[in-house]
Amino acid sequence: MTQDSEFNNSSTQSLDSQENVDTTSNETLEPLCHWCHQLEDENEQFSQVKITKEDQTRAYYYCSKEHEQKIIRFYNYSKILRVIYFLFIIIFPVILLTCLAIFGNLLFVFLVFVSLGIGIIIFPYLGEKTVKGLGLKNTLTLGRVLGLVLVLIGVTLFVINGWRIFLPN
Ligand SMILES: [Zn+2]
Repeated sequence: MTQDSEFNNSSTQSLDSQENVDTTSNETLEPLCHWCHQLEDENEQFSQVKITKEDQTRAYYYCSKEHEQKIIRFYNYSKILRVIYFLFIIIFPVILLTCLAIFGNLLFVFLVFVSLGIGIIIFPYLGEKTVKGLGLKNTLTLGRVLGLVLVLIGVTLFVINGWRIFLPN
């Protein structure tokens, strides 16, 4: 299995890390590249990269050095991106909806769409299940497309309705 590790981050908590390794090996039974989702073929063996996030260590297969780097880079940045994501997904919408309550202007609702869309574009991680099903690369692409659609809907509604306000009736 995948116990090749020089990985002794928390080797003292042997029970915990044992559990972690178990979930890891369950998840990566199929040697699919975590980035591009290509299946390992007979003449090349995929290696694994270990990523620690939220006290859990996971091992991910990769097909090439390039994709290993992409996986590492994404998870390195994901902590910061997640913070910005929550800003756009929760904080800004709450502010905008408060403005809606105060000013009673529907335009703030359309800005919530825009804010959600920007948040998803910044951090297009659509959840572990999606990543498992599509690979990281496709998930991020799909997320960005969804985010962009939300932004476009929000901007369109904002422009159409905002325009109406300034039109003399
Ligand atoms: Zn790959």
